[in-house]
Amino acid sequence: MKRVGAHVSIAGGVQNAPLNARKIGAKAFAMFTKNQRQWHAKPYTEEQIEQFRANMEECGFRPQDVLPHDSYLINLGHPEPEARAKSLKAFIDELHRCHQLGLVYLNFHPGSHLRKIDEETCLDLIADSINRALEQTTGVTAVIENTAGQGSNLGYRFEHLAYLIERVEDRSRVGVCLDTCHTFTAGYDLRTRETYEETMRSFDEIVGFSYLRGLHLNDSKVELGSRVDRHENLGKGKLGLEPFRFIMQDERMEEMPLVLETIDDELWPEEIRLLYSFVEE
Ligand SMILES: [Zn+2]
Ligand SMILES: [Zn+2]
Repeated sequence: MKRVGAHVSIAGGVQNAPLNARKIGAKAFAMFTKNQRQWHAKPYTEEQIEQFRANMEECGFRPQDVLPHDSYLINLGHPEPEARAKSLKAFIDELHRCHQLGLVYLNFHPGSHLRKIDEETCLDLIADSINRALEQTTGVTAVIENTAGQGSNLGYRFEHLAYLIERVEDRSRVGVCLDTCHTFTAGYDLRTRETYEETMRSFDEIVGFSYLRGLHLNDSKVELGSRVDRHENLGKGKLGLEPFRFIMQDERMEEMPLVLETIDDELWPEEIRLLYSFVEE
């Protein structure tokens, strides 16, 4: 079964996320574990945790249907040790939060070299951060997201993802998430059956579908290879609807969160219905 959802709000507390997801007809969802623009957040209360778990159950979501996204402030490859340590601490806190909620994934962007170190040095720092974070936590898989390669963000080549995975000591707790917009603007085409299959073949060869834990379904405002991260609603951008039809008919993407992060959330119920209609074709 395909599990389509969206990145839903945690306004009023994380316990509301499953309810917000159900409201739009989602079978999966993403959420932030806390306010993503702040470094610090109060720990969850016992009541919040209980309520979250109860709402998950009531709405019929399993732990693996949820792909929490970490804070955008975190940079596990920060060239400066102090700033990197701050990021690592915040990342570990988010892994703890996921575990407290009974969740099994934490999705994150690899990191940025900020033009102060080279790509390989930065990737080594990221791998080291992932290893330290996994050592200090249990139960949650670190899900690396591919990026558009905007600015000095790494993770825009499948080789970057493979490089990191290769250096993670506990490979049972590392996975990847592919964002369709990022994939496309990083230079991998998805718009025709041929280019879609070629991109997926290359992903399988370099990274491997066994590591794929979820997808972000976003159209792109900008062109192939532009290395800019601008999401658009499905069918309204440069990707068009075809890539999403291919994904919904692709057996390799069963039983994993397929998450919309499109810009107009009013359209999410409609987009979810549209995506499910592709399965039936
Ligand atoms: Zn992301
Ligand atoms: Zn994005």
